[in-house]
Parts: sequence; C-alpha cells; structure tokens
Amino acid sequence: CGIVGYTGKRSAMPVLISGLKKLEYRGYDSAGVALSSDSGILIRKQSGKVAGLADQVEGEKELLSQSHSGIAHTRWATHGPPTTLNAHPHEGNDGRVVLVHNGIIENHNALRDRFKAAGHTFKSETDSEVLAHLVEANYEGDLFEAVKKSLKEVEGTYGVTCMSKDEPGVLVVARSGSPIVIGLGEDETIVASDASAIITYTRQAIYLDDNDIARIEGSKVDIQSLDSGAVTRTPSEIDWSP
Ligand code: GLU
Repeated sequence: CGIVGYTGKRSAMPVLISGLKKLEYRGYDSAGVALSSDSGILIRKQSGKVAGLADQVEGEKELLSQSHSGIAHTRWATHGPPTTLNAHPHEGNDGRVVLVHNGIIENHNALRDRFKAAGHTFKSETDSEVLAHLVEANYEGDLFEAVKKSLKEVEGTYGVTCMSKDEPGVLVVARSGSPIVIGLGEDETIVASDASAIITYTRQAIYLDDNDIARIEGSKVDIQSLDSGAVTRTPSEIDWSP
C-alpha cells in the first residue's frame, strides 16, 4: 500500500516513520521498517497502526537512529491475513536481501514451490516474500542487477524498494503498475509511493515510468528501463497542496 525509503546523511528512522504517518490516509493494516546497520539489517514490524511501530522503535532509539538508510511500508493485505509476520519488510532465505512491495506477484505460487524445493524456508504467507527470495537467489554481489533479473521473471504488479546487507546505503526501486516517486534532496534521496511522504524534504522529484528500475545511493540516482536499458527521466516540481 505505502512505501518510503531513505538514503543519505540523516538518521533514516525519523524520516521513515514521519513518511509512514503521511501515508496513513491511504489506509493500511500493518506497518514496518528495515534499517541498514553495521551488524546487518534490522527489521521491526507489527500489525496495527504506525503509532504502535513508532513506539516500538522509540524504545530502541539509540541503536536504530545510527542508521542512514532504510525502507518502510504500510500494508494493505492481499495475500495472507494482516498479521505481524505478514507485515513488510520481507527478507529472503538468508537475510541478505530485504524489500517492501506494493501490488500483487501473480506467479508467487510457482516461485514459492521452486524455492521450497531448493530448501528455502518462508516466514509469511505473502506473495511479496517470494520476491525477496527471488532477488536473493539472483544476487551475485550487485543488488541492481539482481532486482533487474528478478523482475523479468515476475508476473503481476509492483512498486518495490529493496536493499542488501552487503550494500549499505544502496536502494533499488522499481515500478510496474504501482507508483514510485524519487525525491531528490541535497546529499540524500527519499523515495515513496506517494509524494506526500517526500514534500517535507524536497519538491524536486522523478516519477518512475512502468518498467523503470533505479539504483540510488545518497544523492546519486541511476535509472534504466527493463525494456531498453539506460533512460533519462527529467525531474519535475512536486505540485502538492496539503
Ligand atoms: N500483496 C502484498 C501483500 O499482501 C502487498 C500488499 C500491499 O500493496 O500493501 O502483502
């Protein structure tokens, strides 16, 4: 339902939580956040309101506020009930890849069967977790290439934001049928499914087209199209009056 991501110099957690609060008006049943840290990626999530998640992370502020990149999600369940385990972010089998996803992966059953046969364990009943396993399976040290390869194997709709514990500070985002906006800050980038989560920080933004995929690190944004390779997407001013 709602996606926020941050990479830059600030502490990521407050940006992500305030972004999720801006997205609340769209409706959701659970919320979660994943933060890059020296010791890997820390995931905190729960069913219910963003306020509950905010209380949870507030209790661990000292640890979690050291992170300068992360992703967050408000979920509107389509596959699997609105439980804490089904809340996003989701990770693959070994925790190397973590992602948040809007939309529906139509071929999730076939993919899940393939990974179960290969010995993977699934923690949730969601279609989205299957995408995390797929990206992990395709990961050979380059998250952008892994996501690109994975999306060619996916049927369905997605707005997706991924990170890898091996590439702290890097976000890979993509869209097909579900919006992604990239907010361009100074030394930082805020991505979201909806401009309302970005406007506090910047009004310069790139709206991804369907089949676009971007690698983002700090203020560096590289965009390709899954169909045609490197593309140029011109930033525009976010037109938003709250
Ligand atoms: N299909 C996914 C799920 O049920 C994503 C739903 C959403 O867009 O929030 O977890």
